[in-house]
Amino acid sequence: MTGRRPSIAVVGAGPGGLAAATLLNRLDCDVVVYEQAPAFSRVGAGINVSPNATRALSGMGLLDEMRKTACRPTGWTSRRFDSGDVLAYLPLGEEMETAFAGPFLQMHRADFHDVLVEAAVGAVPVEHGRQLVGMDHRSDGVRLDFADGGSVHADFVIGADGIHSRVREAVFGADELHFTGRVAFRGVVPADRCARLVDDDFTKWWGDDRHIVIYYVTEGKEIYYTTSIPETEWREESWSTRGDVGELREAMSDAHPDVHTVIGVEHSTFKWALYDREPMPTWHEGPVVLIGDACHPMVPYMAQGAAMAMEDAVVLYRCAEEDGVSDFDRTFARFERNRIERASKVQRESAKNTFMKSGGSPEWLYGYDAWTAPIR
Ligand SMILES: Cc1cc2nc3c(=O)[nH]c(=O)nc-3n(C[C@H](O)[C@H](O)[C@H](O)COP(=O)(O)OP(=O)(O)OC[C@H]3O[C@@H](n4cnc5c(N)ncnc54)[C@H](O)[C@@H]3O)c2cc1C
Repeated sequence: MTGRRPSIAVVGAGPGGLAAATLLNRLDCDVVVYEQAPAFSRVGAGINVSPNATRALSGMGLLDEMRKTACRPTGWTSRRFDSGDVLAYLPLGEEMETAFAGPFLQMHRADFHDVLVEAAVGAVPVEHGRQLVGMDHRSDGVRLDFADGGSVHADFVIGADGIHSRVREAVFGADELHFTGRVAFRGVVPADRCARLVDDDFTKWWGDDRHIVIYYVTEGKEIYYTTSIPETEWREESWSTRGDVGELREAMSDAHPDVHTVIGVEHSTFKWALYDREPMPTWHEGPVVLIGDACHPMVPYMAQGAAMAMEDAVVLYRCAEEDGVSDFDRTFARFERNRIERASKVQRESAKNTFMKSGGSPEWLYGYDAWTAPIR
């Protein structure tokens, strides 16, 4: 590799892969993204983008674009599922933006993704329809094999291929899964179809064994919900699996009428089986590193998965910039050392599903700045 620019293959064009590719492309190296999907498509979901994530995006120059389609909620209200009694309230508007030097935004997941796509495409080659099926990283460089029969070589690989990461499997073996016995329904409904919506603009309705989160997306034109509901049979963990709205309404039958105002609207719902994973002891081996859900997949109860992927991308870039691009083995080790404790903590805290149930400070979570956090 002496005397030439190192080549970096990023597997996966989700939030983590796109952010990492866009940033690393600023350095003296050749980055290519390989994505299994034939094209980018609009997945029906919302996303919370908390200040730790918006500050990461701001440093990439992407926050203004994000704001164009996002909503900035006034506050997060935790309420009893049935009575609607308030359990906790966290102001999220101007107050949070000032306190954390970054806004708390809520938006359609596709709008969030589009901004990252716009930033990457044009700067970095993104090859679609390239599903990784095998990888050999134990010889000189890394060989990546794709389902279309093609192979490429790269000096270094960033596995940003999500929960079912093939890169992780190739390096660390099969994933250890634990089904939580719970599912998340999610859906997006037009706001003007809801005759009467809750006073709050962002509510988590807490029941004894289930919850539903409801908030505005697409500049207030649509309302998004996501749930956690006990269910022992269903096992599919996928963004595209359809659910049954009737089953959702039945599971929510004891919920406050305001919840039914939203889920009572005619719409399509999606269903996602919730699995737990133990934090991984390491995220890298030789010329390969994992980022985002590939190394720290978490249940979505704290809405931090994509935020952690943004933080990862920024810290990986900062390590590479400091180390120089000829020494990625060292960079990957430093990246892991600087990220694993925080991401593993968020993974564990998410699994407890107690965040903001009865108040408390989000400082430890939202106060982290990936651009200025000391790099050890
Ligand atoms: C219901 C739900 C709600 C959520 N809400 C929030 C929220 O409000 N806020 C938040 O921050 N996070 C949220 N998350 C988590 C967030 O969506 C993920 O953490 C985030 O998408 C992770 O980004 P990633 O880039 O690591 O992986 P992904 O988004 O999973 O992207 C991985 C990419 O890799 C591609 N890929 C996979 N396998 C291969 C292969 N073999 N070859 C090539 N390409 C491949 C995939 O097609 C995909 O494009 C939520 C998750 C769920 C399930």
